[in-house]
This record gives sequence, C-alpha cells and structure tokens, in this order.
Amino acid sequence: MKSTPRHLSRRTFIGTGLGAGVAAWTGIAFGAQNTADKDTLAQALGRRSANTQFLENEVDVLVVGGGTAGHVAAIQAARAGAKTLLIERTSMLGGNMTVGGVAYPGIFHAWGVQIIDGIGWKLVEKAVEFDGGRMPDFMTPYEGRKHWQHQLTINPFLYALLAEEEALDAGVSICYYEFPLGLQREPDGWSVATAGPGVCRTIRARQLIDATGGADIVGMAGLPRLREDETQPGSILFKTRSNYQPGREQLQAIYVHGADSSSALTRTRDNCTGRRALLARLRKAKEKPGDNPRLFHLQPEVSIRESWRIDAEYMITVEDYRSGRKFPDAVCNAFYPVDLHTKTGVRPQQLSPDTVPTIPLRALVPKGGKNIMVAGRSVGSDRLANSGLRVQAPCMAMGQAAGATATLAAKKRCSPLDVPFEEIRALLKTHGAIVP
Ligand SMILES: Cc1cc2nc3c(=O)[nH]c(=O)nc-3n(C[C@H](O)[C@H](O)[C@H](O)COP(=O)(O)OP(=O)(O)OC[C@H]3O[C@@H](n4cnc5c(N)ncnc54)[C@H](O)[C@@H]3O)c2cc1C
Repeated sequence: MKSTPRHLSRRTFIGTGLGAGVAAWTGIAFGAQNTADKDTLAQALGRRSANTQFLENEVDVLVVGGGTAGHVAAIQAARAGAKTLLIERTSMLGGNMTVGGVAYPGIFHAWGVQIIDGIGWKLVEKAVEFDGGRMPDFMTPYEGRKHWQHQLTINPFLYALLAEEEALDAGVSICYYEFPLGLQREPDGWSVATAGPGVCRTIRARQLIDATGGADIVGMAGLPRLREDETQPGSILFKTRSNYQPGREQLQAIYVHGADSSSALTRTRDNCTGRRALLARLRKAKEKPGDNPRLFHLQPEVSIRESWRIDAEYMITVEDYRSGRKFPDAVCNAFYPVDLHTKTGVRPQQLSPDTVPTIPLRALVPKGGKNIMVAGRSVGSDRLANSGLRVQAPCMAMGQAAGATATLAAKKRCSPLDVPFEEIRALLKTHGAIVP
C-alpha cells in the first residue's frame, strides 16, 4: 500500500501502547525521515498489541548484543553474581564469529606468551577440543607477516551451542529476536524498552553494557559517538566448489563497500548488495566452458568490520597502540597488526617485537556516561588503533572486563569509573583473565 509521507508525533507513538507512560524516552526515530502514514501505523500497532506480551524485568546488568564481546560480558557478570539479562537481535550467540562466519578468533598469544585468557579463551579451547581440532604452536612467534598462523579455526555452529550452554548455566536470561526501542536514564541506572515478535519488554537495569558493535545504545542515549565518512568494507562469507568444513577451513569472502550496521535499512541494503555480487560471480564462473561451481554454504548476513565507535573518557591512539603503552587502568591486553581494509585491499602493519598494546577501562566508558559501558569493536579509539583492537580476542577480553566492572558497580551502586581498580583486577583474575 502506498502511504503519504507524514510526521509521526511522539504522543501518537506512546498512545499505541508501546511506550505508555514514558514521555521522556529517547532513541525512537521521530522527525523528517519518518514516512509512515500515522493512521496505518497506529492501526497496525493496535492489532499487534492484542497478541503481544508486555513484560517487565529488573536486573543488575543488562547486556545488549550477544556477539563476540557481549556473550562473554554476560557470562562474566552472571558468574560474579549479577542478575543478568542479554538482548540479542538474531537467533544465536557469537555475532561476527557465528552469524557472520568469521570463525577465526585471534590473537591470544604474543611473542611466545599468552596475553589473553579467561572466559573467551576457555570457550574457544573447549570448542576446538570438542571438535577434535588442532591448536597452532603459539610458543613459536609467527613468521614475518603471517599473523594468521596464530589464529584458530573454530567450528562456529559448535561454538554457538557451547556459548549458549555456558551462558544459561551461569544464569544469564537470554532474549533472542529482541532489540531496544528506546531508553531513559534513572537515578540508579536505566530503563530500556525492547521489542521483538510478540514481545514488548521494559527492563530496569543498574548497569548497561552496549555490545552491539556499533555503539547503538550509546547513540540512543544521546552520548557521543564517532564515525569517519569512509569505513572499512563488510564481507559476505560463502563456500563454493566443495562442502564447507567448519573448524577446518576459512570461508570465501566478497567485500561489501560502505557496509553499515547502524539500521535495518542499511543492513537490508548491504545483504542485498552482497548476495547480488555473489550471484554475479557465480553466473560469471558458469560462463566458462566446463565450469559449474555450486554454492555449498552462505552466511545469513554481511559481517561488519567498522561502524560507530564511542567518544570515550580516554581515546586510544595509534601511537599508544604501536608503542604498547601500559595504562594504569588497563583491563586487558590486545595484539594484532594495524589492519585497515580499503577499496584496494589490506596491507597489515606488524607491531614491533615484544610490543603488546593494552586497553584502559576509560576507553570503554562514553564521555559523560554514567552506569554505561561498551565492549567490543566500538571501544574508544582512533581509526587506525581500532583496526587492530577490533579483532576477536581483545573483544572477548573487553567483554569480560565490562562484565566484571558492571557487576561491581551494580553491587556498590556506583558508576564503573568509581569502582576501585584493584577490585576489578582481583575479580577478573579470579575468573581466569590476564590483567596487564
Ligand atoms: C570479514 C571480517 C573478517 C575478520 N577477520 C577476523 C579474523 O580473522 N580474526 C579476528 O579475530 N577478527 C576478525 N575480524 C574482526 C572481528 O570479527 C570483529 O571485529 C569482532 O567480532 C567484533 O565483535 P563485537 O562483539 O564488537 O561485535 P559483533 O560480534 O558483531 O557482535 C555484535 C552483536 O550485537 C548484536 N546487535 C547489534 N545491534 C543490536 C541491537 N540493536 N539490539 C540487539 N542486538 C544487537 C548483533 O546481532 C551481534 O550479535 C573480522 C571481521 C570481519 C567483518
């Protein structure tokens, strides 16, 4: 049906029953870009509410995004005794590692020593062992530019099963297919409204961890975020010519330039662009006489390299990263070349011998943010530093650090930066993490 472009007022939206009594909600896209017909939308929402469950939860820690960093954050918080709820818009944990198909986590070792341990590493180890896979020789530094020699290949399907089991066993309440619609600051935390098919939920949380990869929740809260005009391409991952051997090999990939995780509109566009490019490649291959490549495997969505990062209390610079600066409030290590993908490909720049960068707690806290942290690739950093920090081992380590810090902050009724750092260090060490 064709609709007349018209603005939808906040009052109309609240009146439909989705956000009753929450006049100060932010984050819902009212304004010039709204083209929905007001009456049609109101009718649709009215019909829908008859079959919708309205739920309320009160928790210590709310994690939004159950990807690489988020599932580790939730497991850590729950194991440390926090009542923890995890909202994930897809149907499984792991994010880029599983739904994206980037099942090659790195890098947990540097210069012959393990530098990242804890919940993420133990899960990766368990997945490799369960699947009868092989670990690389981490004690021998990789040759020259071959940093991929220290990346593991995990079975993403098995990883998702094990991660979910550990999260549920730890006591995490998982809510798949939901996403936040809006949120509101409270004196002692946040109220967050989420929705999914058949569900509208209001969550009161003392501490919020934004692990969406694109600082979606930080943006919704009106806290500062940054993004350059040009971002690294995303990729669509697939396998042709022979069956995919998960845990034994990497997938093929096609770049999707301009990929942007910030809305359903951009995600839809990126998935269609990636799939169309793949179809074109398959058609072209078929034109060669005697060639008939079959498509054996396709990941459900484009995986994203770069999106919004937070403007944090401390922004990690590429100089900090390259010099291996040791921050007094470092919560974890990181290790990877500076690795910026552009239209012409990627030329990783290796770190100098014995250099191990670190990540300070302040880089997980948005400027002026109270009771909120990020974990994962949206960490406060300049673009070049971020190109190394964004890989999976540091994302998992940031997740664990955010989960531990949020738990302590919830118990003490304070903001993350007010928690005595020695207590964060001690809790992380109890749960197997390496704190620099
Ligand atoms: C093609 C490609 C190749 C890569 N190669 C490697 C490699 O070889 N080794 C390596 O270690 N790293 C690699 N990386 C980098 C790495 O995979 C990512 O940077 C990392 O996984 C990001 O973790 P994250 O937790 O920040 O985000 P993600 O893993 O993307 O998790 C974000 C989660 O949040 C959910 N989410 C997002 N928005 C919402 C919302 N509004 N509501 C609810 N849920 C939401 C998503 O569904 C997802 O589950 C690669 C990345 C790409 C794209």
